[in-house]
Amino acid sequence: RPGADMAPYRADFPVLQRPMNGRRLAFLDSAASAQKPQCVIDAERDCYEQYYANIHRGVYQLSQRSTQAFENVRGTVKRFINAADEREVVFVRGATEAINLVAQSFVRPRLQPGDEVLITGMEHHANIVPWQLVTEATGAKLVVAPVLDDGSLDMDGLRERISERTRFMSVVHVSNTLGTINPVETITALAHERGIPVLVDGAQSAPHMPVDVQAMGADFYTFSAHKTYGPSGSGILWGRLEHLEAMPPYQGGGDMIRTVTFERTEYAPPPQRFEAGTPNIAGVIAMGAGLEYMESVGREAILAHEQSLLAYANERLAAWDDLHVIGTAPGKAGVVSFVIDGIHPHDMGTILDMEGVAVRVGHHCTQPLMERFNVPATVRASFGLYNDREDVDALIDGLTKVKSLLA
Ligand code: PMP
Repeated sequence: RPGADMAPYRADFPVLQRPMNGRRLAFLDSAASAQKPQCVIDAERDCYEQYYANIHRGVYQLSQRSTQAFENVRGTVKRFINAADEREVVFVRGATEAINLVAQSFVRPRLQPGDEVLITGMEHHANIVPWQLVTEATGAKLVVAPVLDDGSLDMDGLRERISERTRFMSVVHVSNTLGTINPVETITALAHERGIPVLVDGAQSAPHMPVDVQAMGADFYTFSAHKTYGPSGSGILWGRLEHLEAMPPYQGGGDMIRTVTFERTEYAPPPQRFEAGTPNIAGVIAMGAGLEYMESVGREAILAHEQSLLAYANERLAAWDDLHVIGTAPGKAGVVSFVIDGIHPHDMGTILDMEGVAVRVGHHCTQPLMERFNVPATVRASFGLYNDREDVDALIDGLTKVKSLLA
């Protein structure tokens, strides 16, 4: 039976062992944030209990130990995304901070009035607003590639929107609302033919599939640890070394300098240049534990498992005539967004919660995409490696309850 081999992993997640309203918790909101396995919780606690100190400065042993544990994670991330060099891995708060960093430090200095930044119609607000900030500040224009009715990216539309004035492209790898997996290799190849650098927003790809930033051909890639089974408040920006070396700092402070005088500061090389101030030390170390956990489970297996759950969910949801799935592109990741005629998603979410089913309702930080599909909000069920068919069954039972109460 598909997915049966993943069953033992559910026991690694303490929250999932706790009942919700007296029922087995069906946690179907991993696209928003994943639950944490015991090894991640232990890694964070061990840091504070056994060797915590500020990093990079202490000559004493504790500081050396925490520095080493922190810096080791660069190697873990390098392996996890197949980066060419550890120095290409910048620790940040998460995908949002990474995109703002690239927008301000790499893109903004390259924008003249009339230049263009190209994104897609399925971006998360985190990959829209930073580009509005820099284009508005420079007199440049934000251009948006359209989304087709099935929720896939309109590749002809994208091609048509690449112009002489396109200076940068930023594209989501996997849509958090639709589950669409975008052909990022094709997109970066198209862009590079014209010398345009590309950022790939990996917030929803890193948690669900193998990632190879070199094969992808990206110039920048980012993800947040809280979605890769790690803690909130840490994440990474990966950038090609030649880009990072050419970029000015995003923030100034301690730990990002070589020498400081009141007249002039010489910046440290990357990645330290972009890591001003005391970082989320324990959070980075625990992020590393989450990535190693994913590697031990196997990312091919995670993807196959989540896609088989999606197929099962689609099969069961298809029985409902008044239920409409938003986003039906082939080969999707484990996310299903839907609406039911005449019932508001928020009411569904509330009743499902009473049944122990945690789903996301709302616009999922993709308001323009909601407009594209003419819905104010959707119910979104998204899968993690710990989900199983019982969770899908709980969702279906919950929806039956919703209909008996509201329809
Ligand atoms: N991009 C996508 C596709 C996302 O799903 C998210 C998180 N929902 C983000 C960016 C932003 O990530 P964070 O809030 O962790 O910075």
